[in-house]
Amino acid sequence: MKLIFLGTGGGRFATINQERMTGGFRIDGFADKNFHVDPGPGALVRLHDFGLNPGNLDVLFISHSHADHYNDGEIIVEAMTEGMSKQNGLIVGSKSILEGYKQWGPCISNYHKSKSNTLVLSDNQSINLNGFTIKGTKTMHGDPTGIGFQLKSDDLTISYTSDTGYFDTLHKYHKGADILIASVLRPKNKFIKYRHMSSSQLIELINEVKPKLTIMTHYGLKMINAPPENEAKNIEKKTGRSTIAAFDGMSLTVNDKNANDFNIETLKKKIIKNK
Ligand SMILES: [Zn+2]
Repeated sequence: MKLIFLGTGGGRFATINQERMTGGFRIDGFADKNFHVDPGPGALVRLHDFGLNPGNLDVLFISHSHADHYNDGEIIVEAMTEGMSKQNGLIVGSKSILEGYKQWGPCISNYHKSKSNTLVLSDNQSINLNGFTIKGTKTMHGDPTGIGFQLKSDDLTISYTSDTGYFDTLHKYHKGADILIASVLRPKNKFIKYRHMSSSQLIELINEVKPKLTIMTHYGLKMINAPPENEAKNIEKKTGRSTIAAFDGMSLTVNDKNANDFNIETLKKKIIKNK
């Protein structure tokens, strides 16, 4: 299984200024399937930059209706369906993404939903699919229907918090995760209550969930300046558990049977030649 980070920026200002890229991440080869998670602005461009095929995809997951998560969703659907010419793939999203909720969304048009299966996921809802289970996990964030996920195969469990503030029962949704991917917008204890986690809260979450490997992503400007690599080192020291700060173009190959056995590569940008 391979995790590929197309972007590690998040929040309005880091996104608008592209202080870090914002294309979300891919999970390739999980239960023999490829996933694209939260394709923010630039996801399609970054896939090409890194020499990856945007259409080589089985599941598109979008957690909530903030542009840094859903912006490139429809064009990724077009890639997944060979330009809307064939039926393919599954789009999993919050109610706001797929159906709309109050002022939120929908963020995928009926046209773009017409060539793929769709699944509206809510927190604590668990669905068995071909070779894996996906469970929605609760978030406390702006979009009331927003979700994270937990993916479970025979060998490996991956949890993604998506954007959420820390709350007392957050760990219950992510219990059993071998790999925890966390949106950590802010460093130290500079959290935004019920909106975004900080490093100090990630320490609490790691102590509760006890994942084999934690990967931080979705950095705001304060975290970018911290920088996240220093925060990760400190979190690892305090928790005694492997913690990595993801970077743009990070490709991490993980042994499915032991998440502590992993290898990190840096994807090189493909040179685009003018014809
Ligand atoms: Zn958000």
